[in-house]
Amino acid sequence: MAKELKQFSTINALMAGLYDGVFAVNTAKTCGNFGLGCSHALAGEVIIDKDFLEARGDQDVRIMANNECLPFIQITTFQPDKIIRAENVQKSNLYTLLQQHLSLDNIFVAVKITGKFHMLKIRRPFAQHKPYPAITDVFANQVVDSVSDIEGTLIGFWTPDCFKELSVAGFHLHFIDTTRKIGGHVIDFNSEQVELAYECKYSFSIVLPEIEEYLHHDLQVKDLHKVIGLVEN
Ligand SMILES: [Zn+2]
Repeated sequence: MAKELKQFSTINALMAGLYDGVFAVNTAKTCGNFGLGCSHALAGEVIIDKDFLEARGDQDVRIMANNECLPFIQITTFQPDKIIRAENVQKSNLYTLLQQHLSLDNIFVAVKITGKFHMLKIRRPFAQHKPYPAITDVFANQVVDSVSDIEGTLIGFWTPDCFKELSVAGFHLHFIDTTRKIGGHVIDFNSEQVELAYECKYSFSIVLPEIEEYLHHDLQVKDLHKVIGLVEN
């Protein structure tokens, strides 16, 4: 099922502290070439644009090897339903803009925005060490870059609110610039002229980690939605 959005692990498992990489790059590549994730020990944000590109707090962007493993991945193929030329696209108006073209409240949507950005705020974490700290502590200590006038691509997904314990509800976007030197998880953006492409995803499947740690881990996270909001936005 080529159009399916495949997810490895859940956002709630990640928020509960399961940061070890368990899903190999080459396994995920059998499910597509477009998506996002985070790398082992939360060392970096991963942008999947054919290659798995890792943006770490303390290193340059690099291409990950096929045998490296990640704790969380969302991956699919991307064949746009529609491509829109738009100006002044921002995180705050993206929903309204897309809503003019499709009804997205109850489905997943793959989103790709390519072009020039006036303003971009992205973040990159640092590798964590065991015993792993709480996710809120990890994201209190990360690199936040504010860049202006940069060309590149935003890649990610819209997740409907009713799936908020499994994925990041709303828009979850990662960025990679055209030179593949600057990347990360997108906190905010404002574009100049861009190409906004989307593809509705009516099929969504999840692969859970087949490891003892997952089987015995307490997945209850206190104030989960507050924590996700804090970490992912
Ligand atoms: Zn992210």
